[in-house]
Amino acid sequence: MKLTVLGCWAPYPRPGEACSGYLLQSNTTNLMLEAGNGSFAELTRHIHYTSLSGQIITHFHPDHYADIYCLRHAVEGARREGRINAKISLFIPRDPVEISSKIADYTEAFNINIIDDIPVGEEINGLKLRTASAGDLKLYFIPTMHSLPGYAVLVKSQGKSFFFSGDTGASEMIKKTARDADLFLCEASGLDQDADYLKNFHLTARQAGELAKAANARRLLITHFWPEYEPHELVNQARSGFGGGVEAAVQGNIYTI
Ligand SMILES: [Zn+2]
Ligand SMILES: [Zn+2]
Repeated sequence: MKLTVLGCWAPYPRPGEACSGYLLQSNTTNLMLEAGNGSFAELTRHIHYTSLSGQIITHFHPDHYADIYCLRHAVEGARREGRINAKISLFIPRDPVEISSKIADYTEAFNINIIDDIPVGEEINGLKLRTASAGDLKLYFIPTMHSLPGYAVLVKSQGKSFFFSGDTGASEMIKKTARDADLFLCEASGLDQDADYLKNFHLTARQAGELAKAANARRLLITHFWPEYEPHELVNQARSGFGGGVEAAVQGNIYTI
């Protein structure tokens, strides 16, 4: 698999950059994770949106889903003009219902999958998880600890595993599901000084490092940066938690898994 960072800022972007957005690709499948402000335009630097197979929104904070409306109009237009037939598989949480029900009406663009309704399938590291697929990517959804209901996601393909935290505090479930991940993409919303403010809903960079270490992740990539901070400061704290190499997500960078 290959991960391209489309945006890494939260909850607002730096000039010319984007909020949360990632493109995960196998040889045959293009999956977009999150659709934060500005991420749709970034996607189109790398692939044509008509070649997208799926889109996952982990939760309904605007810095994770605002550009779903761009994708909706782009896909509806392409289908109307006969440039594509297929719809995009969209994975969204149910809550808040006033948001999900509105998006679920965009049936000209999307095949809607409400994550809460996906049946519990395979067992991973002792946990029964909601299991779906997008092309040849197997998806496993894990509830997060956040101020809105949401999900983290484990993706497996060709013997490799990728784990994305979404927005979350630390939990046993996340630690177990992320076990031995080849790449752990983890939110790092603040520095040590922010620990009280972020408590239970987000991770500091150090906590992201500690979580990845506890999960025995092979590689840690931190993201979801407060734009007033320099990512290298966050990397330094994440490194002391992880005890090894940590990278900060950089828009446009590609990471091979
Ligand atoms: Zn966020
Ligand atoms: Zn959030």
